[in-house]
Amino acid sequence: MIRIDGTYGEGGGQIIRTAIALAAITGEEVEIENIRANRPNPGLSAQHLHAVKAVAKLSGGRTEGLELRSTRLKFAPGALNGFEGEIDIGTAGSITLLLQCLIPVAVFADSETKVRIRGGTDVKWSPPMDFYTELFLKTIREMGCDVHLDLKRRGYYPKGDGLVEAKITPSHQLKGIVLVESERTREGVVKGISHSCGLPAHVAERQAKAAESVLNAAGYDSAIKIEIENGGGRTTGCGITLWKGYKSGSALGERGKRAERVGEEAARNIIKELESASTVDVYLADQLIPYIALADGKSEIRVREMTKHLETNMYVTKKFLDVEFEVEKEKKEGEVFVIRKG
Ligand code: ATP
Repeated sequence: MIRIDGTYGEGGGQIIRTAIALAAITGEEVEIENIRANRPNPGLSAQHLHAVKAVAKLSGGRTEGLELRSTRLKFAPGALNGFEGEIDIGTAGSITLLLQCLIPVAVFADSETKVRIRGGTDVKWSPPMDFYTELFLKTIREMGCDVHLDLKRRGYYPKGDGLVEAKITPSHQLKGIVLVESERTREGVVKGISHSCGLPAHVAERQAKAAESVLNAAGYDSAIKIEIENGGGRTTGCGITLWKGYKSGSALGERGKRAERVGEEAARNIIKELESASTVDVYLADQLIPYIALADGKSEIRVREMTKHLETNMYVTKKFLDVEFEVEKEKKEGEVFVIRKG
């Protein structure tokens, strides 16, 4: 039985998602204590709960303590059979975070997983939907995963009600990823999507325009699509995600925050990444760790900051898999952390 203290490092939901996914893949039993103990709302929230439920179903596993706000959880996985079904997070809890737990398990299952998930698609402190489809999926496909997501409709805080269909075909064997050369060039285009639902059309347009002028001033061309949904009161919100290569910048709108500020924030976020000697952005880095550990052969990525999420994911991953990550600080052209495996 592998025991994990939920307060370690970043101390948040990622510990649960990585631990449960790797427990299912390796067949190890796990007990997680003090779940999100130092958060203002400790214990499992709806997103974590449904992620664990989905993995338990997929793996025919047994759970103890799987309830809302529970701070202790035991999981004994079974055979990974894949599954077809629907998941309703019931809140604006993040669909992409639920997928963070489900995808790796489904990749190692015996048959296909097809699932429709209702919840938030673009919510705070989680991967925006377009980051997921344009960066994260692209990268894990290069590593051998066969995952398709279909965004049916967006869902924002607080109503949620976004809908995503996921199809994961097992691949069992992953290959490492080596991203050594930083694309610190202004060639090529920063792509993006500026989206809104239930708001006046000018909001998404102003977000895009503001992002474009910050990017242009820094010497980058951009091609930002506008996506406006009426929504009919279903959910209300807006945001923008920008990407180039393996790097992203995003921002979400909120009441009282001008659309221009949202666009500028996303542009500044991606510029920070593009100007660094890193090869992946800070978010992609932490999310790739379990995949790098599960893949055969050598991997190497460069990241501009060793975030707590990154360190914590390495720690949890090492509890389940016999893997060493070598981290080296390089100071050639500004500071960058080189992460190597194998
Ligand atoms: P808690 O509420 O306890 O913090 P949580 O379940 O909401 O937990 P975290 O443990 O904080 O989630 O994990 C957040 C994950 O979302 C990390 O993998 C991080 O890389 C990712 N993430 C956060 N913001 C972004 C962003 N802007 N773009 C891409 N990924 C993001």
